[in-house]
Amino acid sequence: MGSTLPESHQFKEILEKSPKKPLPASLNQEIVDGMKVTFLGTGTSMGVPVAGGFGREVPTGDFRDDRMRSSIWVQTRQSSILVDVGPEFRLQSIRAGLRRIDLLLITHEHFDHIGGLDDLRPFNYMQKASIPVVTTPSCKESIERRYDYIFEPGKTPGSVDIDINTESTPFNFRDCRITPLPVMHGDLMVYGFRINDLAYINDTNFIPESTLELIKGCKVLILDALRWEPTHPTHFTVSESVEIARKTGIPEVYFIHMSSYVHHAETNKRLPDGMKLAFDQQVIYL
Ligand SMILES: [Zn+2]
Ligand SMILES: [Zn+2]
Repeated sequence: MGSTLPESHQFKEILEKSPKKPLPASLNQEIVDGMKVTFLGTGTSMGVPVAGGFGREVPTGDFRDDRMRSSIWVQTRQSSILVDVGPEFRLQSIRAGLRRIDLLLITHEHFDHIGGLDDLRPFNYMQKASIPVVTTPSCKESIERRYDYIFEPGKTPGSVDIDINTESTPFNFRDCRITPLPVMHGDLMVYGFRINDLAYINDTNFIPESTLELIKGCKVLILDALRWEPTHPTHFTVSESVEIARKTGIPEVYFIHMSSYVHHAETNKRLPDGMKLAFDQQVIYL
């Protein structure tokens, strides 16, 4: 395992070498063609229901109204890609059967998206390698500061081993074309990611025109929709997300990062054709 912070050119080497690496025979065998996306979590930063009963914690009896923190697992024939690693990552990965992480994409540094970093250790041990990460410059800086014990000097033996890179332009990873999608989350620039024909944007209240250009032609859009009202300084409401989703023209849309005020069944009845709330453990194919 690497003992120092990698230079970005080392990431380029990983990308160049990766297609030639022999893949385990069992990897993603069930995926004949295209992509499988598993929603590991679809909830807002506090999860749903909220600890202590802060929100609208009225049990509906519908399992789709229980939401862990937002994250997806993307599988293609050659790749197993995790987007964000929240505080429930350990539980999410076990229940989904996630056994391998080839690449970790992190949208931003808020705790609900990085709180599970430490639980990547078993994947380091199994894969006997550092896990390549792509994220924003501010998220890289934040992780290096808050998780200082996983970096030199003074790295704790056996601690998690990640190779953080701040790619801002499209790159190829095995059978995936990945495009970082800069969007605004209040005053913070965060990334969504386009992976082949999937666009994933999970914490935002403003998508610039230049980023809307980057997701043109996608088959599926996954987008932040915190609550119906009131408007929020860093997240889209459901109505705002519906409007943006319409503007993209992407035919299949799933909303995520919902608070406990958004009930699955009653909200889906109000949404236009082609748009739905996602729910934890939902699987879609592209
Ligand atoms: Zn979030
Ligand atoms: Zn956030």
